[in-house]
This record gives sequence, structure tokens and C-alpha cells, in this order.
Amino acid sequence: MADKPLLSIRNLTVRFGTFTALKDLSFDLYPGKTTAVVGESGSGKSVTALSVMRLVTLGTRAEIDSGEILFQRKDGSEIDLIKASEREMRDIRGNEISMVFQEPLTSLNPVYTTGNQVIEAIQLHQGLSKQEAYSKALEMYEMVRIPRAEKVLSDYPHQLSGGMRQRVMIAMALSCDPKLLIADEPTTALDVTIQAQMLGLMKDLQDQTGASVMLITHDMGVVAEVADDIVVMKRSRVVETGTVYDIFEKPTAKYTQALLASIPRLGSMTGKTEPELFDLVQEEDE
Ligand code: ADP
Ligand code: MG
Repeated sequence: MADKPLLSIRNLTVRFGTFTALKDLSFDLYPGKTTAVVGESGSGKSVTALSVMRLVTLGTRAEIDSGEILFQRKDGSEIDLIKASEREMRDIRGNEISMVFQEPLTSLNPVYTTGNQVIEAIQLHQGLSKQEAYSKALEMYEMVRIPRAEKVLSDYPHQLSGGMRQRVMIAMALSCDPKLLIADEPTTALDVTIQAQMLGLMKDLQDQTGASVMLITHDMGVVAEVADDIVVMKRSRVVETGTVYDIFEKPTAKYTQALLASIPRLGSMTGKTEPELFDLVQEEDE
């Protein structure tokens, strides 16, 4: 971990009214590494991701009370995403930091073909002509191994399987060569075989592009498979951080030990929309 962090969250506190959703949160993401953010449902994983995208306050009562999110930009400068202007954030979102959500049907517009949406995103962020953006979109579909890519470009989202839609979202997210990809439970809604394929794919793409990945999951089986570093969250706080090796070998927090003891099979979330509480989470605080 000699590298300078790509993203450094420092003492971040976020409230919804009187409820503190993130309490004094600090952790770092390193270039080219996959960091898994794990913890029970409601622990603050999605709020963390949305804070980095600075989408957390959009249409909600959320207030960022304090803290910094330092990000190393493509041009070599450092920016605090908490203080950045809306204009700077528009520049960064989708361009330098991309996000893939759990259920891609809700993030794809049903009335446009998938190609239309990906091409538009590419045009918007890269200022390419329609023809150039089409070629780029096709290249991205092939990179995420969408079969018959040309045909899928002209398909509407509902015509595709969940796994295919997720590939489209990943293609869109990676089309602008982001330095950071945030994936919030990206495989939870998919069946086991497809989950394994998606994780393998994300790992390959990361090797090819050198992007950092923040992978939000409650599935420790997934973590063991793809993560380099782990951030364990519980009730709005970071409980512990470390490399996968350290945490699987010597988890210090009782809560982390409980998470590890409850390692579900890959795919055990299939058919569920929300992760369930882990056993033992009601025990006393560390
Ligand atoms: P998870 O770890 O499951 O992703 P979240 O980050 O979504 O958890 O949520 C953390 C806490 O913040 C939860 O208690 C949730 O109810 C609360 N929360 C999230 N979004 C909102 C919102 N828009 N308004 C009020 N409370 C919210
Ligand atoms: Mg969540």
C-alpha cells in the first residue's frame, strides 16, 4: 500500500435529519485495487457510495455534516468532492468516477434502446460524433462480452436478461475509462452462474483498464474471490479495514468474525432484493 490513495474518505459524517447515516467514516481506496465495502443491511454502504458521487443529497434530506473526500483527478490535481462545485461534479461523474447499481432496469430508460443510451453517454462525456460514439459503444459491448453486440445495441432494456442488462451498465460505466468504478451490490439480483461471470468480467476489465473498484456487497464469498482490501461497516461506522489476507486470517472485530462465520454461498441472495441481517449483529458493540 505504498501508493498514494486514489480516494481518501476522511471523517465523513452524513445525517438524514436526526439520524446519523455515516459517523466519522474514514478509509482509503488505492489505484488498481478492488476494495470491498461489507456490512449488514442498513450499515451505510450505499450512503457511502452516493456520498462519493455526491448524489446523496439529491432529492433527500441528507446533510453532509463534516469530512472530506479527496480524489486524485485524471489531470493530476486533487479535489475534495465534498467542496467541489456542481459543475466539477458533473465533469467527474461518469467520466472519472462511474457507478453501477444493483438493479439495472431502474437505471436504464425503458423507452430508448440500450445503444441509444450508451452512445448518448459516450457523446456527452467524450464529445465524440455519433458515428465515433457508435463504434466506441460497439467496442465496449464486445469488451464486456455481449454476444451479437450489434443487435443488442438496438434492443430495448426489457428485451434483455438481467445479466445482459448488467453488462450494458458496466459497458456504459467503463466507456469513459473512469479511474474509479463503484459497484453497489452489482450481482445480487443475478443468478449464481451469471454472478460468477460478472465478477470474473469485472476483475478482467480492472486488469485491462487499471481502474480502482469499490465493490459494495454483503457476500463474503464474493469478497474472498475478488477483493484486495476490505472495509467493514456496522451501524454507520467503519469497524475495521485491512487487506483481504489480514481480515480473513485475523479479523479483530467480533462483528467481522461474525460476518466471516456466516459466509454465504455465492448466489445465496438469488431471488432476494435485500440482504438479511447477519447472525450475532445484535451483540454488544466492540
Ligand atoms: P446499506 O448498507 O444497506 O447500503 P444504506 O447506506 O442504504 O445501507 O442506508 C444506511 C442508513 O441510512 C439506513 O438506516 C437507511 O434507512 C438510511 N437512509 C438511506 N437513505 C435514506 C434517505 N434517503 N432518507 C432517510 N434515510 C435514509
Ligand atoms: Mg445498499
